[in-house]
Amino acid sequence: MKSLWSDREAEQFRGDLGLRVYTSRLLGRDKSLVLHGGGNTSVKIREKTLFGEEETILYVKGSGWDLETIEPQGFSPVLLAHVLRLAELPSLSDPEMVNQLVTHMLKAAAPAPSIETILHGLMPQKFVDHTHADAVLSVTNTRDGEKRIREIYGKRCVVIPYLIPGFDLAQFCAKEFRARGTKDTVGMVLLNHGIFSFGETARESYERMIELVTLAEEYLDSKRAWSVSTNHFTAGTADANAQATLRRRLSDTAGAPLILKTAISERTLGFAQHPEIARISQQGPATPDHVIRTKRTPMLGTDVDRYVAEYRRYFGEHAPKAKEPKTMLDPAPRVVLDPAFGLATAGRTAKDTVIVEEIYDHTIDVILRAEALGGFQALAPKDIFDVEYWDLEQAKLKKGGKPQAFSGEVALVTGAASGIGKAAVEAFLARGAAVAGLDVDPRIESLHARPDFVGLRCDVTDDKQVELAIGRAVMAFGGIDMLVLNAGIFTASRKIADLPTEEWRKAMAVNLDANLLLMRICHPFLKLAPHGGRVVVIGSKNVPAPGPGASAYSASKAALNQLARIAALEWGADGIRINTVHPNAVFDTGLWTEEVLLQRAKNYGMTVEEYKTNNVLKTQVGSRDVAELAAEMCGPLFAKTTGAQVPVDGGNERVI
Ligand code: ZN
Repeated sequence: MKSLWSDREAEQFRGDLGLRVYTSRLLGRDKSLVLHGGGNTSVKIREKTLFGEEETILYVKGSGWDLETIEPQGFSPVLLAHVLRLAELPSLSDPEMVNQLVTHMLKAAAPAPSIETILHGLMPQKFVDHTHADAVLSVTNTRDGEKRIREIYGKRCVVIPYLIPGFDLAQFCAKEFRARGTKDTVGMVLLNHGIFSFGETARESYERMIELVTLAEEYLDSKRAWSVSTNHFTAGTADANAQATLRRRLSDTAGAPLILKTAISERTLGFAQHPEIARISQQGPATPDHVIRTKRTPMLGTDVDRYVAEYRRYFGEHAPKAKEPKTMLDPAPRVVLDPAFGLATAGRTAKDTVIVEEIYDHTIDVILRAEALGGFQALAPKDIFDVEYWDLEQAKLKKGGKPQAFSGEVALVTGAASGIGKAAVEAFLARGAAVAGLDVDPRIESLHARPDFVGLRCDVTDDKQVELAIGRAVMAFGGIDMLVLNAGIFTASRKIADLPTEEWRKAMAVNLDANLLLMRICHPFLKLAPHGGRVVVIGSKNVPAPGPGASAYSASKAALNQLARIAALEWGADGIRINTVHPNAVFDTGLWTEEVLLQRAKNYGMTVEEYKTNNVLKTQVGSRDVAELAAEMCGPLFAKTTGAQVPVDGGNERVI
């Protein structure tokens, strides 16, 4: 492991807190040290109060901040003297400890300080760094982990047996540090949990962390337990239907729609097909810090009932009798290992699935290395339970935000790179849905860089491309709940007498045939949608009120309209709603080139300006207006409506 310290970068950070921010980010940059909110750091700084008195302030990482992206305001400034007084108490409950820390901060708006604050305060050094390094966890999560750790670190680290984070752990560490620390002591290993390093400067503490973790890596390497791979595997199959069926089962179990992300690779298949997978995967996480995100164990295979029964049994066995099952997390697994598709992760948002996947990816490393070293051994179920339960109790104290309208749901939008489609992507993302955007335009692939969006280049008139794209969308999110049929073309204005057959056929292929194909392929997924499938067709004013010179366009949209009406009849029994919006004169779309606009205006004998607001309300209709209505049609407002056609055109005399 290399130090990422750079003098040039460090120059941009001022003072002790600035450098604390810098080296915290360096730790966060290396995912083998800390993952997603894991780990914490602190610095003790002498400051003058308003009254001119000198005080030492302990700046410790606040909850809700990631080391990788932390800012100065991500550190909670706690009065060190108070922390040290608290540490002298014979005992202190967790809620009171949290309360005391929060009420002794210098900034009311600062985040709540880390649960490990008292531990940071008790360490005599100015800078303290704490990580859950993979290499250290690989060594400690073995039968003779403690012996190995002592062999690696000797006098350099004080070794602490596993204790749940909190007041008792902090006191115990301080006592051990006083009793066993020497002038050579630069760190502390918490068995089955992680590692601390200390220093008088930010750089010293950080580089000691790198040095200590490197020692564990070298030790693993010397035992041929560093470069491990899962050698044998047979090819997997990520069957889209099976994935969507599994997601539906998980969503029903969780009581809310979940996203399910499949990660099929040589590595995940090799691990899921490991001959000892049941033994190595069912013990628990690599560090208790991961338990709330991954659950104690992954589900092996796809037998959800068996998993739920086991989870209830585990929870019931350890929970304080009076409180179970009110506090219990929903019993759906968050990690699934299966010989057919490797690894899949479930969560209420796409971001959650990516985080869980990353955590489990590191867990695979830790397990395989510990296996190579002599056998992976996780904490006892009771110890893991205590952390899970504690986390749940803490979560109840926090104000949970209201879930968004489409949390855990998946929308597929065609023609998503521009105009109404692009606006629809935004409207669905804003309501919490994960979105797969299809477009023939390659720019679709980079439309949004976020975990809840996947942009797929696809010609919707090509069966194979459509099947492939839908398969990829299901791999990414687990299903399709909402389908927005938007892709369309407006061929040049032409009278029927002059209309080439080719042009007619092209309009039919894109505006009609492609949508039949999409509906047919998506039907089984829509049927599996946890909240019922929804389809929105972007129709056209030309359906109820066709215009001269637009026969190919109008006829294709009218046929699509009829197709949608029949789908409403046929799919009602499957709980799928299908509704249509009829926009008119939406000029901020790809269809409306300057040339087309001029042509259409001329057809009606108007200027372009007149043509743009040529409606009853004399208003301009934008892509966003149409997209917002399309999204609302998938929401509760339209829960009891199917087969409807709603104009969004500013009012049209011929339609009214
Ligand atoms: Zn920790």
